[in-house]
Amino acid sequence: MIIKKSNRLVLGNWKMHGSILENTILLSKLRNVDHSLHCDFGILAPFPYLSQVLTILHGTKICWGAQNISMYNFGAYTGEVSAAMLKEFGCSLVLVGHSERRILYKETNLDIAGKASAALSLDITPVVCFGETLDEYNSKKTFSVIESQVSSILELGGKSVSRMIFSYEPVWAIGSGSAASPEYAQDIHAFIRGMLHQVGADSIRILYGGSVKASNAASFFVMPDIDGALVGNASLVTDDFLGITKL
Ligand code: PEP
Repeated sequence: MIIKKSNRLVLGNWKMHGSILENTILLSKLRNVDHSLHCDFGILAPFPYLSQVLTILHGTKICWGAQNISMYNFGAYTGEVSAAMLKEFGCSLVLVGHSERRILYKETNLDIAGKASAALSLDITPVVCFGETLDEYNSKKTFSVIESQVSSILELGGKSVSRMIFSYEPVWAIGSGSAASPEYAQDIHAFIRGMLHQVGADSIRILYGGSVKASNAASFFVMPDIDGALVGNASLVTDDFLGITKL
């Protein structure tokens, strides 16, 4: 799928949810949508279901990917999944640096850059996530946190970064039911856009994530530097997810 900045992108992050039966129902509804009424959209599924996603979505305009990737190509890395393995299951995208992985699994900026590179090496688009925690937000460290997270990815160079998607996700908004205000998110997106300009990667898409639903998504989409959404909970209910992609 060709991803253009002019087209809005909405990605559903299933996290560790789903079952073969539930996925069949959800994916079958997604595959039957009239794409002329929806923006570009895709889903990020748990590893064991990628084969099922490939089978049901193959031949559609919907893109899909995984929620994590190894920074290594192969070898003695028990439990890890390589870029080549994701490629075999038709993944065109992979989440990298989601806050749940940064916080719960202690992934560092260096790990995240390594994973983004591994994805790019096989033409899988990394969707790189950035965001401040509640403590950092309360102590007014948002811009410095975002600057250090984004800088470590920009070290990969403008050419590489131009092939990525970024997603700003304030950690305090994820799964809380309460999104950031669109104006607040726009300020951070504009800040990230300024950093991207310095490496000549002006036109990549920057998604907003954190309690996006059909009832608030439009207020983000009107913002000049918000190019779509990364959606967690609302992506598990087909009508809620399609309510966002249809705006
Ligand atoms: C996410 O998982 O990245 C996310 C944004 O979740 P939610 O939409 O549930 O806040």
